[in-house]
Amino acid sequence: MIVPKATPVIRQYLSIKENCPDAILFFRMGDFYEMFFEDAKTASRILEITLTSRNKKDVDPIPMCGIPAKAAAGYISRLLDSGLKVAICDQMEDPAHSKGLVKRDLVRIITPGMILDNEYLDEKTNNYLLAASAAGERYGISCLDISTGSFRVMETDEGDIFRDEIQRISPREILLTQGFLDRMEALSGNRMRELLSGRSVTYLEERAFEPDTGRERLLEQFKTRTLEGFGCDQMTVGIGAAGAILVYVQETQKQALTHVARIEPYHFYDYLMVDDMTCRNLELMKNLRTGTREGTLLAILDKTMTPMGGRMLKEWMRYPLLSIQDIVKRHDAVSEAKSLISICRELRLELGRVSDLERLGSKVVMGHATARDLVALKQSIRSFPAISAHLAGLTSTLFQWDETPDPLFELADLIERGIREDAPLSLHEGGLIKPGFNRDLDELIRLSRDGRSFLAGLEIQEREATGIQSLKVRYNRVFGYYIEIPKARSESIPGHYIRKQTLVNAERFITEELKAFEHKVLSAQEQRAALEFELFETIRKAAMEENSRIQRMGAFLARIDVLTALTHVADSNRYVRPEINTEGKIDIEDGRHPVVEKMIAGERFIPNTVRMDPMENQILVVTGPNMAGKSTILRQVALLVLMSQMGSFVPALRASISLTDRIFTRVGALDNLSQGQSTFLVEMEETANILNNATEQSLVIMDEIGRGTSTFDGLSIAWAVAEYLHDLNGKGVKTLFATHYHELTELAKTKLRLKNYNVAVKEWNDEIIFLRKLVEGGTNRSYGIQVARLAGVPDPVIRRAKTILAKIENGEFGMIEVSRAGRPAGKEPAQLHLFKAPAHAVLERIRRTDLMKMTPIDAMNLLHDLKQTAEQMGE
Ligand code: ADP
Ligand code: MG
Repeated sequence: MIVPKATPVIRQYLSIKENCPDAILFFRMGDFYEMFFEDAKTASRILEITLTSRNKKDVDPIPMCGIPAKAAAGYISRLLDSGLKVAICDQMEDPAHSKGLVKRDLVRIITPGMILDNEYLDEKTNNYLLAASAAGERYGISCLDISTGSFRVMETDEGDIFRDEIQRISPREILLTQGFLDRMEALSGNRMRELLSGRSVTYLEERAFEPDTGRERLLEQFKTRTLEGFGCDQMTVGIGAAGAILVYVQETQKQALTHVARIEPYHFYDYLMVDDMTCRNLELMKNLRTGTREGTLLAILDKTMTPMGGRMLKEWMRYPLLSIQDIVKRHDAVSEAKSLISICRELRLELGRVSDLERLGSKVVMGHATARDLVALKQSIRSFPAISAHLAGLTSTLFQWDETPDPLFELADLIERGIREDAPLSLHEGGLIKPGFNRDLDELIRLSRDGRSFLAGLEIQEREATGIQSLKVRYNRVFGYYIEIPKARSESIPGHYIRKQTLVNAERFITEELKAFEHKVLSAQEQRAALEFELFETIRKAAMEENSRIQRMGAFLARIDVLTALTHVADSNRYVRPEINTEGKIDIEDGRHPVVEKMIAGERFIPNTVRMDPMENQILVVTGPNMAGKSTILRQVALLVLMSQMGSFVPALRASISLTDRIFTRVGALDNLSQGQSTFLVEMEETANILNNATEQSLVIMDEIGRGTSTFDGLSIAWAVAEYLHDLNGKGVKTLFATHYHELTELAKTKLRLKNYNVAVKEWNDEIIFLRKLVEGGTNRSYGIQVARLAGVPDPVIRRAKTILAKIENGEFGMIEVSRAGRPAGKEPAQLHLFKAPAHAVLERIRRTDLMKMTPIDAMNLLHDLKQTAEQMGE
């Protein structure tokens, strides 16, 4: 930017701004951070602060706004929330000691994925920065949570699942190349854009993702010769993405990331894949209606006591296991803790005293930890012995930690001896270090304390010398030390008193002696603050040395936290240990929906038994009126499978769960409550995704698919999809198919592994009573009118609807009958009716007309009617 007649400061500003064009530049001037030009306009709007201008009298005043440097963190966080980045430019020298323009420099660029302050992070959510790229047929993802040091990488050749993985990680910030975005948009159109919206996206050059340089960067970061030890030696695109993360972080943070000491590779096939659509439909973490956590599986299960436990639980839920051995280990642990529930309770109490060790450790390493952070670290480490004593009563492998915590105890002792519990947030004003920790410091402190007795002595001495009994020696921040004398006595002041200030009733003076004293005290205070900071740094350094052990203790306690939380939930909600089988059977006796059972206040949740097997009950077509409980049963089965494989117990009397590789849940467009999603196209895209990716180990939940289009279309699609799932690879896929097309029950006649079920209702005096029981057999009615009555639709409408229904059932409404009405006994099956009906109706009308009695206009009208009918049918 060229600014005519720019002052030296503005010239300095502009040259720094050149290095961070896409960030809001916080330019330090004294106690403030100032923003200029466009940055000032944007920031003042978002932060709701006054926009002023520098040099108002100029023809072209420069827009400007500012915030106090002390309060910067809150403002930064608000800008980050709006998806912006913030560049921090500090003064590199003390203005008091510098001549001319103060030296300033860019010290850090803060982006949404680079937040370290706990205060501005959701404590139970990882804050991921993600990089994604593709080359040839390979796709790679790497993600880093800089606040915990967790760094991962994965690679795959499945492009469509890959997009779901990005959703699953749910990053705050994404790095990619324009080329990659184009490629993904070609592959998945809208949904890629949807994925990026609301996230901070930074485009890097292709070469940032280059695999070979990525490898070198990783080796340098970890100080190893190969990546073999991490198990990702074979990866290429993923390594490129990981490398891109490292450059980006180094460029923005301008410091080494010593706490990122390893990278963990993982693979799709290690975990139960729950795609994003399923995650939403099952309301795992977000309520579809409210968008909050309430009413989700997470809210039911997350009874963790620590932030790191909360993050781990979420992770277990998003990455349920596929190894029976590992699942059983978790179940063993929960089972043992449940049988010793008092130990579990004690453990949870102790865990409540533990702070976020992972994030504290990272703050220490990044040099952002305050004295209070160290005190929290100490307290957390000191709760470990009690936890460990309780754990001694448990034998499951997951409760064991084969590492010695001793070095951390030593660290805690050091912090205990050194750091004051009431230390202030600021590290440069003293008050950090305990007495007795350092002799020099104690000496300085004594000096300033002795100052007090010196002042008392001085007061007595001066009173005697002047004979003024009301003389006082005092201190204030503006004037420093002074002697105060009432105005009435000002005639008897000694000659060596120097007048400093006149008040209404008094006058203030200093003396050479007092000045010398002041200098001594002030410099003692300055020295003291400096020494305290120095001592603090040595303690922080000691903590830094132990960081990897801190991280490992954090991870261990997180695991204990998750396991005891799951135990607590299992105990208080009456869950049972599920058995995992590999015979493809799902056998749930008296299962309950973990969330709905808690939500229906006052009403009792009716448990349901669901049995599926690969022989006769592979596809269950569940019919029943609206509100009967179809969707609830379907989701219940999916949730129980997911809970089992994440290591949780399940709400049922007994459960055996088939090891499942993927869960797909699709909900017909009308039932899909999430906004912006409810288009038939999306519904069909999602259906295609299932049909292309389901295996015989998968579980498919189809809830009212085909709803988003006309009846004929919808039924035909539902029909064809059910057939396809039944015949897939000659083996079929376990599917729960809820539908209001009761015509679908006809399928059971030809498809061996498909069975009809319905959620029973009882008709009583024109009303329906929901029994909520899943029973064998199909239904042939929709009960829509009864449900409408239940919902409070006015009586006239109900009566009218009934008349219309009766007419339709009697065939008086032409072709409409077959789409809505029940099948009269003895007639041919409804679906045959349905497919034949349209042509049939048109023909029928032609047959009934008497050409001889028609005028040309009549004929024209008839033709018009027929055409309209034909068009309606086509929809
Ligand atoms: P459908 O999908 O058949 O229209 P839903 O599954 O949406 O019906 O269930 C409708 C409501 O019925 C639920 O919101 C819940 O309040 C209640 N409900 C469902 N299943 C049960 C059950 N087993 N016990 C008690 N209430 C239930
Ligand atoms: Mg439903």
